[in-house]
Amino acid sequence: MTGTIATGSSSSGSSYVGRFAPSPTGPLHFGSLLAAVASFLQARASGGSWFLRIEDVDPPREQPGADTAIVEALEAYGFEWDGPVIWQSSAKADQDAAVADLSLRHLAYPCSCSRRDLADAPRSTLGIIYPGTCRKGCESSEFAIRVLTNNDEIGFSDGLQGPQSQRLESQSGDFVVLRRDGLIAYHLAVVVSDHLEGITEIVRGIDLMDSTPRQIWLQRLLGYATPAYMHIPVATHADGQKLSKLTGARGLPLKGKRRILLAALAALRQEPPADLASASLDDLWDWSVANWRHDVLRNVTTIPSDSDAMASLENRLW
Ligand SMILES: [Zn+2]
Repeated sequence: MTGTIATGSSSSGSSYVGRFAPSPTGPLHFGSLLAAVASFLQARASGGSWFLRIEDVDPPREQPGADTAIVEALEAYGFEWDGPVIWQSSAKADQDAAVADLSLRHLAYPCSCSRRDLADAPRSTLGIIYPGTCRKGCESSEFAIRVLTNNDEIGFSDGLQGPQSQRLESQSGDFVVLRRDGLIAYHLAVVVSDHLEGITEIVRGIDLMDSTPRQIWLQRLLGYATPAYMHIPVATHADGQKLSKLTGARGLPLKGKRRILLAALAALRQEPPADLASASLDDLWDWSVANWRHDVLRNVTTIPSDSDAMASLENRLW
């Protein structure tokens, strides 16, 4: 006997693979920091891997330099990801192959409808419900590609928000996987990346929970595994609007990092002890991993700006 304990093939012995996947549309702000912190802690507390993926597949919406600013801010705040930064644009060949595969199997079709053509289409909380106009063919040389949907219930059990379901044909209709401008659509890009990276658990903001059934639908059609999902509450302004670049949330400062991380932990209801304010960034992270509890966020959907954590940020920093 040697006394060696076998830990399996991965260094951590855990099969958990998580990720944080920001779009470079602006700097990292407090709202996106919450998703980074929660996904990181959930992965590390599970002994799993955690990848950083920059979702750079929508150049018209991107802000020059935001990609490097996000990576630098995450580094400064002490996040440690596994492997190199993953650029979603590098999966272009796989994204194109997935669209071609769906088209070849008649699960996707060209649609030449313009925004104006769809102006009178019915709407749901997911947006326009595509009425299926081009299912039987379209004539134009300029078109998007839509994936066929049906009205079966697509459900999943969210790790925090409980059972969720949608019927896609009546709630969104056939949705776009390749845009008219030639760019890959968000849902398809995410699903291909999660598959390529072997993601098993997705922790992200609740504003994306509505997207999940469409992503699960694509996973099923493409023969991919469906990861587990956990949607965390989003930080909101006083008027209830989500904190985002569009609503004027500012980039995270590189000064006062520990105080901001403590505010993030408090916003995520982790109750960090007061003496952590004078600890090092490393000690703060060690405490956070050791004490992470996702269950305190069960059925919590928003972190209002009048909460203590948010108020301390608004008053002292922004
Ligand atoms: Zn159409």
